[in-house]
Amino acid sequence: MKLNELTVSELRRLLDSRGTKPQEVLDDVYNRIDAVEDKVKAYITITKDAAYETAKDAEQIILSNKQSLLTGIPVAVKDNMCTKGILTTCASKILYNFKPPYESTVTACLKEQGYILTGKTNLDEFAMGSSTENSGFHTTRNPWDLERVPGGSSGGSAAAVAADECIAALGSDTGGSIRQPAALCGVVGLKPTYGRVSRYGLVAFASSLDQIGPITKNVMDSAIMLNAIAGHDPLDSTSAPAEVPDFANFLGQDIKGLKIGIPKEYFIEGMDKDVDDAVRSAVKKLESLGAIPVAVSLPHTGYAVAAYYILATSEASSNLARYDGVKYGFRAQGGKDLLEMYMNTRSQGFGAEVKRRIMLCTYALSAGYYDAYYKKGQQVRTLIKQDFDSAFKEADVIVTPTSPTPAFKVGEKSTDPLQMYLSDIFTISVNLAGVPAISIPCGFTKNNLPIGLQMIGRHFDEGLILTAAYAYEQSTDWHKRRPAL
Ligand code: GLN
Repeated sequence: MKLNELTVSELRRLLDSRGTKPQEVLDDVYNRIDAVEDKVKAYITITKDAAYETAKDAEQIILSNKQSLLTGIPVAVKDNMCTKGILTTCASKILYNFKPPYESTVTACLKEQGYILTGKTNLDEFAMGSSTENSGFHTTRNPWDLERVPGGSSGGSAAAVAADECIAALGSDTGGSIRQPAALCGVVGLKPTYGRVSRYGLVAFASSLDQIGPITKNVMDSAIMLNAIAGHDPLDSTSAPAEVPDFANFLGQDIKGLKIGIPKEYFIEGMDKDVDDAVRSAVKKLESLGAIPVAVSLPHTGYAVAAYYILATSEASSNLARYDGVKYGFRAQGGKDLLEMYMNTRSQGFGAEVKRRIMLCTYALSAGYYDAYYKKGQQVRTLIKQDFDSAFKEADVIVTPTSPTPAFKVGEKSTDPLQMYLSDIFTISVNLAGVPAISIPCGFTKNNLPIGLQMIGRHFDEGLILTAAYAYEQSTDWHKRRPAL
């Protein structure tokens, strides 16, 4: 077995017992990247030289027994998190040359824990999409079937983890962008509670929904990565001063008597048959481990996608106003005055989906329409949050499919935005309510495509979803399968 195929916890043990050293781990990671990256295209920027520099330090740190959680572990980061002096493009032409003068809090945390950055991964431009087809640079391919998308927007991170082109990765999730690609690529993706992880240095899409989280090969690694990045940050006014437990302590606890809520609104017509079957078997499996299924209802689910696309895009149209060609990024040449320079920069720099959203919600926010759209969206958001509050009176964890379908073909939905938006039908409500959720592998379709199971928890109860996810994972071996590539 190659070192790049190991998990964070396995590598930690091996590095600490001097069974290998960080440079050897990197050798296997970059050999793998050389072998498959042409096909998978998970990365936008590969930071190989800097990685080997960091590995030298990591080796010394381990030799002096001063290692931290991630010392010497190669991790990939989605290209919408600022890394000081390292290209951070958000997969947008408008930021094609942007090297941030500062470090995001999450990557600063990973640094403090000794990680090695393998590179910056591909995404849908500004994280707007569900397939990476909206990337301004290239489309990432699903390692399980190269004709299919890896999901999105953190498709590069999920594909890199699934293809063993890194050990673990960070993604961001505004409406499903960690969980949906994790499901489509057969890996584990955790969206923490809103406020659990600092957003400082995450390029803003929709600030009231965005949250960073880990994409990993198993649940144990998810807990380890969350330990590394969770916590209050004075640089992010929305980060919560909540106590951070050691998430690894939640693994291995028994789930006897755990009430798992099954919302009827999440088992709908039009859902893929294999997905439906796999999720129902997963519920049976949880039951055999002692969990008690209870029927719950989240009655406003049907309005979630509509509310999300008003709220998220309204925030985006405001957040993206800063890209005007003046301070950083791309600037169009040839405008006769300042206004024309702005207009040319924005029309040439942004891709079609980003423009669609800016226009839609500049309209929705304009005088006279605000009450009809934005305010109504906020009211629906409150109802959706209340749905979860009531469901969590009956259930401890809510279990649903992550995505209604497995990975779809490249090009299959890219000309139909509405179909694309519906990919997130099971993940979006979670962001609107601000609760945490994890996606873990729960089976494969007849065509050998991975299927994801979503477990949703109460605010700041990542611990319990990790407990349930780990119990399920340990009784199955879906997470051990690797794509043939
Ligand atoms: N697919 C959703 C969108 O396009 C969610 C994206 C995300 O979570 N960043 O908005």
